[in-house]
Amino acid sequence: MAVKEFKAESKKLLDMMIHSIYSNKEIFLRELISNASDAIDKLYFKSLTDHSVTTKKEDYQILLELDKANRTLTLTDNGIGMTKEELEENLGTIARSGSLDFKKDNKAEDIDIIGQFGVGFYSAFMVASRVTVISRAFGSDTAWQWESTGAEGYTITEADKEDVGTKIIMVIKENAENENYDEFLDEYNLVHIVKKYSDYVRYPIRMEREKT
Ligand code: ADP
Ligand code: MG
Repeated sequence: MAVKEFKAESKKLLDMMIHSIYSNKEIFLRELISNASDAIDKLYFKSLTDHSVTTKKEDYQILLELDKANRTLTLTDNGIGMTKEELEENLGTIARSGSLDFKKDNKAEDIDIIGQFGVGFYSAFMVASRVTVISRAFGSDTAWQWESTGAEGYTITEADKEDVGTKIIMVIKENAENENYDEFLDEYNLVHIVKKYSDYVRYPIRMEREKT
């Protein structure tokens, strides 16, 4: 299976996320939830004119699932999803120019900018050693999996997914010296982070109780 390299600009941002000195790592959840919410908006707006969208308004949701034994946190949305080309385009390339500019000189206030800016999808790499995105686009009967451990690049392979939407599986990093990642496997802490940053999101955000 061919490993594809990230585009140069994406690589810079990704490196910054992987080796983040930024203490407010919890904002990754805000970023992923905001992407999920955008994706649901897109499908919802489509449904207003396209009657082949069968998702009912009240069924839209963002789901968080925790598996402590496997150290995974999974975020699923039933939004518009991504085709293979879109996975490649959106997650292999960082198009947003603003987010890179602040990295040029390392001033103290840059750290605040990270928090204010939408740092986007790559912020998942602040907390995860591996990110797997399984997505099925609306109107497509094939699902695709994008997977990356960061620096090495990413792979795209065909996958199985019954419903339209996107599932993001993050393998949470192991605790290291002065770095606590276990907090991102703590249900109550996750609920707290969701309330803190994502209270404005208009779709329900549900937390699946861990099956033991
Ligand atoms: P931004 O949200 O500012 O565009 P991101 O890095 O957060 O930047 O996301 C990049 C792009 O990837 C999004 O614009 C969107 O097209 C796509 N994307 C990310 N997450 C999802 C998702 N859950 N469902 C559908 N598309 C997504
Ligand atoms: Mg975003």
